[in-house]
Amino acid sequence: MQHEETTGESIEKFEFQSEAKQVLELMIHSVYSNPDIFLRELISNASDALDKLRIEGLRDDGLSGLAKDGRITVTVDRESRTITVRDNGIGMSRDELVSYLGTIAKSGTKEFIRAVQEAATSGNADLIGQFGIGFYSSFIVADRVTVLTKRAGGDEAWMWDSSGDGTYTVSPCERDGCGTDVVLHVKERADDGDGETDGTKDYLSGWTVREIIKRYSDFVSYPIYVDDTGKEKKEGAKPEPVNSMKALWVRQESEVTEDEYRDFYRHVTHDWDDPMERIVYRAEGTTEFHALLYIPSRPPLDLFYREGRHGIQLYIRRVFIMNDCRDLIPEYLRFVKGVVDSEDLSLNVSRELLQQDRRTAMIKSGVTRKVLDVLRRMKDDRPDDFKKFWALFGVVLKEGIVSDQKNREPLMKLCLFEASDGQSVSLDEYVSSMKPGQKGIFYLSGGTLETLSASPKLEAFRKRGVPVLLLCDPVDELWVPAAGSFAGSDFVSISSEDVEIPGGDDIQDDESAKEAHESGIAAKLKEAVSNLGGSAANIEDVRLSSRLVDSPATFVQKGEPVSLHMKLLFKSMGQELPSDKRVLEINPSHPLVRKIAQKADEIGSDGLKEWAALLVGLASVADGEPVEDSKEFTKTLSSLLERA
Ligand code: ADP
Repeated sequence: MQHEETTGESIEKFEFQSEAKQVLELMIHSVYSNPDIFLRELISNASDALDKLRIEGLRDDGLSGLAKDGRITVTVDRESRTITVRDNGIGMSRDELVSYLGTIAKSGTKEFIRAVQEAATSGNADLIGQFGIGFYSSFIVADRVTVLTKRAGGDEAWMWDSSGDGTYTVSPCERDGCGTDVVLHVKERADDGDGETDGTKDYLSGWTVREIIKRYSDFVSYPIYVDDTGKEKKEGAKPEPVNSMKALWVRQESEVTEDEYRDFYRHVTHDWDDPMERIVYRAEGTTEFHALLYIPSRPPLDLFYREGRHGIQLYIRRVFIMNDCRDLIPEYLRFVKGVVDSEDLSLNVSRELLQQDRRTAMIKSGVTRKVLDVLRRMKDDRPDDFKKFWALFGVVLKEGIVSDQKNREPLMKLCLFEASDGQSVSLDEYVSSMKPGQKGIFYLSGGTLETLSASPKLEAFRKRGVPVLLLCDPVDELWVPAAGSFAGSDFVSISSEDVEIPGGDDIQDDESAKEAHESGIAAKLKEAVSNLGGSAANIEDVRLSSRLVDSPATFVQKGEPVSLHMKLLFKSMGQELPSDKRVLEINPSHPLVRKIAQKADEIGSDGLKEWAALLVGLASVADGEPVEDSKEFTKTLSSLLERA
């Protein structure tokens, strides 16, 4: 936002912040599958403004009187082609007006704009709903928007005005009482000549507006009135609110329709899709609360932002208290959206007090248990749905294994893993089908699913028909050491040097193993590797392998891997990370290794060094790592090929 010039006496002209400008352009130029959302968004804002006034009124006696008679009025005026959404909520000061309606402060805005631009070229405009573009959605139906507002507790009123062309003006005005009027100057509808319009709705009709409000905003907890200026009013008739104002979450589940639940979901999340799952919960006992929670059908764009919005709204006895209530749900369930309504917290609770309140922890643990229980049932009864859920949110859920020891077991039971045999398995399934004598749950981690499933380390396990879990999410590096075991079986990394392969070590044919052993090739290569330099310096040993079948060489971990704790410690000190100690295992039955063993004495130490470099390079590539010096590596490779 930038202050450009002063036109006239007291009209200031501003430029929109560049991201706001981009969102505006999207509103004006894209075609929306559902333009009705503008009204839902404006009513949501009005309802939020009334909530805020109520919260301020709880703390500031001067404002408490103002907060009493909260209402929203939508006036439709066909004559002047305007729709006005009026509230008597908190209002905005001049500075707030400039900062709230001239910028977008949300995390993920850049990503959102890029995603929508991409979607727009492919004709998919539904992404819009995911972000909750709020106020700017006015420009879907209006070509000019005027806002008149007066901050509660202040005495100046301000007018904001824009035609969505990149600039807006702000000037003083008059307004009775605090609150905000948003005036939409509705676009002309295109007429294709045969008397029919372009298929868009006639928003300048009281009937249309009432329908939209009933459909999308019925549960808003303030009365919404529609004033149709063109319509004659009955003498003395008392205006009736259009919405029922019923809190869905306290109603019996059987009395609420699917549509009502879905519309409420859209109200709280601004998501245009249907939710994947709905959770209606009533807790009784030491602490009483109602919860109406949803699992979205796609992750929000800010799922991995620290500052990303959390999805829980706190109500206390039907009164809205706060959005984004992080104390009521653990971090690893941050994708869950909805409402928690407590019967026994005190109405003037602040975020700080909430954190200290024992009942908060009880609600949190109740909500957590309920969500995990719903997920468990989904997994048991609707495995296909659960797989979809897992693909979207599994990564986030796994964080809980580290952070929520109390629910570690149920969380681990929910996990699904890709195994080396191409199946997707749970830990229960894995453990119950372990081979006799199998000591532990085998896993391979660090890399993509592709590199892991192509790893030479799997060869012996595949040959023996023993599946290995392929863990390719960074969070796996955290929870595996934290959990250590599942149902009495330890997690065992198959990259460690001393892993016991079930069914014995006789993977290679005896004859070649004996030959290789006698040739002393491992010791000779160890000598050669020690002359290589670079990262080969952390190769502690070269050994004959009993785990390789088709590949010539692989790296295994010597001793314990450098722990994450250590890695973080080094990082915090700004030091180079200590690298893991490794052993190069070579396959005695592989023709390449056998050849090297036969020729070792003949080619001498320089020749052997080249072959050692080749084996090290091959082992790296098979682990999905780049070779250290690709130029040097190709040189060695071509020189070896030339002579072969
Ligand atoms: P969001 O509502 O998602 O924050 P909007 O673009 O809809 O985004 O609105 C931006 C901000 O403008 C709001 O957060 C609020 O502070 C302010 N605002 C919008 N409408 C009103 C209103 N009717 N009364 C008071 N403030 C409002």
